[in-house]
Amino acid sequence: MNFTIDNIPFGIFSLNNSQKRLATVIDNLIVDLYELAKLGYFDGLKIRKSIFKNDYLNDFIALGKMKTNAVRKRVQEVLKDKHIYNEKAFYEVNLVELHLPIKIGDYTDFYSSEQHATNVGIMFRDPANALLPNWKHIPVAYHGRSSSIFVSGKNFHRPKGQINKDESKLPTFAPTSRLDFELEMATIIGKGNEIGESIDVNDAEDYVFGFQLFNDWSARDIQKWEYVPLGPFLAKNFFSSVSPWVITLEALEPFRVKGEIQNPTVLPYLQEKKRLNFDIKLEVVLQAQDSEEMIISESNFKNMYWTVAQQIAHHTVNGCNLNIGDLLGSGTISGNEPNSFGSLLEISWGGKNPIIMPNGAERRFLEDYDTVIIKGFAEKDGIRVDFGELRTTILPTK
Ligand code: CA
Repeated sequence: MNFTIDNIPFGIFSLNNSQKRLATVIDNLIVDLYELAKLGYFDGLKIRKSIFKNDYLNDFIALGKMKTNAVRKRVQEVLKDKHIYNEKAFYEVNLVELHLPIKIGDYTDFYSSEQHATNVGIMFRDPANALLPNWKHIPVAYHGRSSSIFVSGKNFHRPKGQINKDESKLPTFAPTSRLDFELEMATIIGKGNEIGESIDVNDAEDYVFGFQLFNDWSARDIQKWEYVPLGPFLAKNFFSSVSPWVITLEALEPFRVKGEIQNPTVLPYLQEKKRLNFDIKLEVVLQAQDSEEMIISESNFKNMYWTVAQQIAHHTVNGCNLNIGDLLGSGTISGNEPNSFGSLLEISWGGKNPIIMPNGAERRFLEDYDTVIIKGFAEKDGIRVDFGELRTTILPTK
């Protein structure tokens, strides 16, 4: 990992079970922001020091972008001074515990990559009509569950559920045999809207605090039996994972790229003056027990048909209120080539084409003690913004 001065993400850490505090990270050093506040480095910004001694980032985010950006800029200035590293505000990253940084309110998961929606449509429905008629008009989404979202390093047990392998027969109750990851990004909402008020698509980014790596774990066999007519339920809510650092929208400004052209034209409330995505390289690494790590997917956040701004405008077009700390999943981010698909369902094409691990084992779906590591970074003109990694191991069924 390579956390540069251009990045300055925000997270929550503790040392030896002490009170949790806000932190940033530079190289492999955790920077204790509460300690910097006590030392007076944020004087003049009119922020209570206790904001930095907190279980979550939400109170800090609620200060608004003017103040949070001022803190980020001040930290950048402070860290350029070599003498600062003599202060007792720095810890080796492997000595501290990193926690879930956001108290997540509501969680919505979109379905915004055209290639992913097409692949799933071919496998689950009809190759001739892979995209449903609404897909190019609506940023499709469902409401998920926030209680089962955990930070990198927390592992989970293989879920059980109703499975109907042959739909002419009766369902059985069993551990999933089609456990999968979904490579996604999480958008963290940094400002709320009032109930009844819609967010204009051209203002929508004012409501974004930042982004994390996100894994929307999925049980494909449970999903196939349960998803009609109301969509995913127990196939998705058993566990989801996020990376520990929230990368600010501001840190990602150098990595803007043009969004995909949308055809047919979308309704006016979804039309943007500037259609911009972010060029963020994403990677999925699989490590089987007793095997070397292997890269199984290389995708990019720019592979999004619907932008984050469109997702927010659509989410609130009916007057639905977003709150600080809400999490919007991007949906699985798949590129056009098989080596850029964002789930094993797509990579193994429903289990038909297994991948071969370095130790010779085959993978159609995930096995117990497999570890999935998602990584992300943006790099351009000597500026690098790293997302760190999101690491989770699958444990056997309880
Ligand atoms: Ca998903």
